[in-house]
Order: sequence, then structure tokens, then C-alpha cells
Amino acid sequence: MSFDVITVGGGLAGSTLATELARAGYKVLVLERETHFKDRVRGENMLPWGVAAARRLGLVDYLLASGAHQPPYWITYIGGNPVASRDLQATTPHGEVSLNIYHPSLQEALLRRASVQGVEVKRGAKVLSVDAGPDRLPNITFENEGNRQTLSARVIVGADGRASQVRGWCGFEIQRNPDLLTIAGTLLAGTDVPDGAVHLAFGVGCATLWAPLGGRRARAYYVYPGVAGRRGLSGKDKTQEFMRLCQSTGVPESWFAGAESIGPLAEFDGADRWVESPARNGVVLIGDAAASSDPSWGCGLALTLLDVEHLAKALCASDDWNAALGRYAAEHDEYYSALHRILGWMTELTWTAGPEADERRGRVFPRMLSDPRGFPDSVGLGPFGPNDDEARRLVMGLD
Ligand SMILES: Cc1cc2nc3c(=O)[nH]c(=O)nc-3n(C[C@H](O)[C@H](O)[C@H](O)COP(=O)(O)OP(=O)(O)OC[C@H]3O[C@@H](n4cnc5c(N)ncnc54)[C@H](O)[C@@H]3O)c2cc1C
Repeated sequence: MSFDVITVGGGLAGSTLATELARAGYKVLVLERETHFKDRVRGENMLPWGVAAARRLGLVDYLLASGAHQPPYWITYIGGNPVASRDLQATTPHGEVSLNIYHPSLQEALLRRASVQGVEVKRGAKVLSVDAGPDRLPNITFENEGNRQTLSARVIVGADGRASQVRGWCGFEIQRNPDLLTIAGTLLAGTDVPDGAVHLAFGVGCATLWAPLGGRRARAYYVYPGVAGRRGLSGKDKTQEFMRLCQSTGVPESWFAGAESIGPLAEFDGADRWVESPARNGVVLIGDAAASSDPSWGCGLALTLLDVEHLAKALCASDDWNAALGRYAAEHDEYYSALHRILGWMTELTWTAGPEADERRGRVFPRMLSDPRGFPDSVGLGPFGPNDDEARRLVMGLD
């Protein structure tokens, strides 16, 4: 059996790309090491610009039928006081709102969908190596049910997430931002957080983001500048501390009363990691393997779907797949660098410490909330919002 495309990983990136290519008539194999997906504390709030991509890929109704929840508002709080309630549909050109879904449900649903669309899916298949070079087809070695097998394909896709091994096997150089933010998260049940909005609350030098999932469940994250000392918010015994820290931002006590953590609590460093020009010798990277943006800004799901769209389109448009991979890599560089720029400015504005930075926040935030024209919009538009020098000057409070 020979395949046009083999993906390493069957998460959001691998399964959705595989589906697009199978629908176009290509033979696709997905190798996914997990036999069933579990909670690894990943993204559960897809931002509106990602939902726009999800709709173009025909995913929105399917995800809603698989348990997704669509909160129409985005509420920002400072010191516990709501300072802005954004009607997402009314304030984005594509009219989309957020889409929240428990990550393992998203993965199961999309991998099932890939199977139904004719993709061959192997679960419990751990990829051990990918070997590629100029002027030959790349090949892949994996283990499944105790058997080791090597296959080649026209294209091998590294969709193996933020700790991608494909990058190392194939000699891709990883760029990395300096450490700054740290994010911890867990799944809460029995919370009465209002589920018609995503809630982002800033405390003093920290923030908490709540993505309601319906049925009184919510994914809660706590973000802080870990560069000044990590708290190590991982493991069940840290749950009370995590809740106390979230509450220190000033969000209502009632969100916590009766709430319990029903999944792992895990902490991650936020630094962006990315690969410039993420394609070579028939191997291409997508999703977090190509670029994992700081999870504190919650852009990863949206960025992943953008990769899927661009790569699928490039491969389906031309029989010259070397040129198609080159085209995807150039497009990825362009939209990821726009996003990286925007999130860098927003990080500097939001998280720089000291009186000058406080003074700047005091000027810029009210202006951004009352008249967002010209400002970047990481929630609504991602890399497609303003990201030129004028936008930078607005964020940096220079105009
Ligand atoms: C704490 C945290 C919070 C986040 N919050 C948000 C958020 O609110 N909104 C948002 O948009 N994004 C968020 N993200 C980012 C989001 O989760 C990712 O961008 C997204 O999951 C990337 O999907 P992926 O398919 O590229 O990678 P993954 O979801 O990591 O999938 C990779 C898959 O590859 C498989 N795999 C890996 N290695 C192998 C191997 N050797 N063989 C076979 N299979 C393999 C894995 O089992 C996995 O299923 C967050 C991330 C973190 C860490």
C-alpha cells in the first residue's frame, strides 16, 4: 500500500489536513500514538478568526454536534470590574464568535471524521523516525501493535505538536522567544461562571482566562510572568493554590464555590517556538510543530487551521508538490510573522512591569477598548488585523 501523504499525529492539525486531502482524492495515512485522547491541558477556546477558518473547512456544525459551545461575548475585567463586553459577531467582519470545546472531544471527533472521509487512521502508532533528503521520497518508521514498519510517501507531514520530534529528525532549526509568561490550566466542573462569554480578567501582574464549555464546566487558565520565578502549578496538590491565584485577579467568588478540578492541572512556559520556512525535502510542518505561539494569547487552534487551509490548498492546486510545499512555507512565514509581531507588541504593553509601563497601560487600554480602530485585534482578526508600524505606534502609546 502506498500513500500520497502520511501525517505524524492525528490532533487538530493532522486530522483536519488528512480530511481535506482525502476529499480531494489523495491516499492519506494518519499515525497517532494515542489509542484514545486524554486531557493534556490544551486549547479549548478557538478565537473568532479561527472559527472563520473552521467554517471555510466545514468544521463548525460538526464541532457543534460534537459538544462545542459558542459564547457570543468576550468580557474583559480589571481588578474584578468588567471594563469591556465585546459582542464578537457585531465587531468582526466575518461575524464569527468564539468556539469552545473540550480538547479530547475535538480530537476524537475530527479523527473520526477523517476516517469516515476515507483516511486510513492507525491509533497506537508511534512514529520512531522520519528520514528525508534531496531527490528521493521521504520515509517514516513507526511501531504499531508490536510491529515495526517503514513506509514512504510523496509528502510526510509533521503534525506532532509543540514538542515535535519531526523537526529534529529532519534538521529543522527551531527559533524561540526568551522566556516571559507562564500559563497553568485545569478543567473545572460545577462552576457558575456565566457561559455566554469568554472571560479575561487582569489582576496585579497576573491574569485568568475562563473558557466555558457548557454544563457548568469551564477550562480555567492562570497566566503570570514566570521569568521572575515559576510557581510550579502542576499536579493535583496545587489545585487549591491555582484556584486562589485565579481568584486573586478579583473574579467573583461564586465562580469557585462548589467548583472542582476534574482534570490534570499543568503549567507550561509560554515562549513562542517556530520554524522559519517549515518545509524541505518532502517533509512539511503544520500546527504547533511549525509554530506554537504563546498559549497565553490563545491563538494556537486558529493558527493551526490556517496552516491546514494553506497547505491543503497548495497541494490540491498543483501536481508539483515541491513547489506547493515552498508556497505553503512562504505563506506560513508571512502570516505567522504578522501574528508574532502583534503578540510581541501586546505582550510588551500588557506585561512590562514598572511605573512607566503602568502609565502607558493607563493611556493605551482605555483608548483601545473605546476606539479599537487601527489597533491589532488578536481575538477577532489575528494576523489579518492591523500589524503595520501605525498599529505598533498605537499599541506602544507613541501616537
Ligand atoms: C496550556 C495551553 C493552553 C492553550 N490554550 C489555547 C486556547 O485557549 N486557544 C487556542 O487556540 N489554543 C490554545 N493552545 C494551543 C493549542 O492547544 C494548540 O495550538 C493545538 O492543540 C495544536 O494542535 P496540533 O494538532 O498541532 O498539536 P497537538 O494537539 O499537540 O497534536 C499532536 C498529536 O500528535 C501526536 N503525536 C506526537 N508525537 C507523535 C509520534 N511520535 N507518533 C505518533 N503521534 C504523535 C500526539 O499524540 C497528538 O495527538 C493552548 C496550548 C496550551 C499548552
